[in-house]
Amino acid sequence: MKNIQAIRGMNDLLPEQSPLWQYFEAQIRSLMRRYGYLEIRTPILEQTALFARSIGEVTDIVEKEMYTFEDRNGDSLTLRPEGTASCVRAAMENGLLHNQTQRLWYQGPMFRHERPQKGRYRQFHQVGVETFGIEGPDIDAEIILLSARLWEALGLFEHVTLELNSLGSLEARRAYRETLTAYFESHFDLLDEDSRRRLSSNPLRILDSKNPAMAEMLAQAPQLLEYLDDESRAHFAALTDLLDAAGIAYVINPRLVRGLDYYSRTVFEWTTTALGSQGTVCAGGRYDGLVEQLGGKPTPAVGFAMGVERLILLLETLNLVPAESQRGPDAYLLAMGERAEREALLLGERLRDALPHLTLQVHCGGGSFKSQIKKADKSGAQLALILGEDELDQGTLGLKFLREDRDQETLTDATMIERLQELLR
Ligand code: ATP
Ligand code: MG
Repeated sequence: MKNIQAIRGMNDLLPEQSPLWQYFEAQIRSLMRRYGYLEIRTPILEQTALFARSIGEVTDIVEKEMYTFEDRNGDSLTLRPEGTASCVRAAMENGLLHNQTQRLWYQGPMFRHERPQKGRYRQFHQVGVETFGIEGPDIDAEIILLSARLWEALGLFEHVTLELNSLGSLEARRAYRETLTAYFESHFDLLDEDSRRRLSSNPLRILDSKNPAMAEMLAQAPQLLEYLDDESRAHFAALTDLLDAAGIAYVINPRLVRGLDYYSRTVFEWTTTALGSQGTVCAGGRYDGLVEQLGGKPTPAVGFAMGVERLILLLETLNLVPAESQRGPDAYLLAMGERAEREALLLGERLRDALPHLTLQVHCGGGSFKSQIKKADKSGAQLALILGEDELDQGTLGLKFLREDRDQETLTDATMIERLQELLR
């Protein structure tokens, strides 16, 4: 019988990898607290209609990537492919949008049935922020500054580029869409199959095509930025002014359209060249129309989502994994002999009581000194604490430095805590 395996494209996070994830998550928590963003957690399953209505019927996600199934009641449910729709639903449903502003963040797994490859999985994780009720470009700038501060903290700032565009208002986009459709129709012979299919449903998405055969034709296409309404133009100019003042460099990419229908005005991506074709590590924009589209009052909103796996991969690729995130415990307590084995657990408790910052692993399961010291070494501990028959008789504890060439010490009951405290500093 074959062993059951995980679902393709869905990864286990193994113990050797979790310290790096926890380091990343700790950075996120601290960052969000520093900017006054509050965490929201929503269910992983939602009604299918939520995503179909918000992301858009004619998008890659809704057309071909969603995990949709009927539950036992015959309701159509979908594993969330992204976080914004759920956030909006939850905020509306719980009255978070009545005459108030919100700065929210979330993290968790998302699900898309894509072809698995490096940096692209079927279960992956996003951290995102969503803000509601703030219309001006100041909040667009704030979430970009927040993300920039994260890159700074992680050592990634020189390795990512900010790409910016404005999609304008819905009306402006409608006018542009007509011009663009006409342009594509006049170059119909150059369009690939995907693009021909999109021509009537979602022509803006054609701009996003990475097909090299279409590159030249796309470069000549009319540009959305030239069709912006006055208000969107002013909003965009104010945003770039704020970014200039803050010293955040950006590239205006007139072909940046994003794969979700709900965006308007500002869209942006942080990209890297270090991950091959999976180069977008964070993407977002303004979606002023979405709340109303889902049945709420018109509410300005802007947010972004970042791909955690890609950022972890980037940290590994660039050797930016901080040593302290990989550290083992401070100490590993060895216990030789039956009496010591029993005492060791209790000693461990006493040490943890007295030294709240101590990280200590107590050996369990017996074995020779040699096999225990091997385990101590493998644990990554700095210190080995040794409790055997002799130490028990004399009321002492052996101390061995595992990472430094230093003499072994004998600690007494009276000096033990003080000495360990000293060494932990
Ligand atoms: P892409 O163009 O790479 O498919 P997208 O436009 O579909 O990205 P978004 O929906 O904007 O992606 O999601 C935001 C971020 O989440 C992406 O920039 C990326 O970092 C990450 N992401 C998206 N899909 C996946 C996936 N299948 N596996 C891992 N990370 C992903
Ligand atoms: Mg995608």
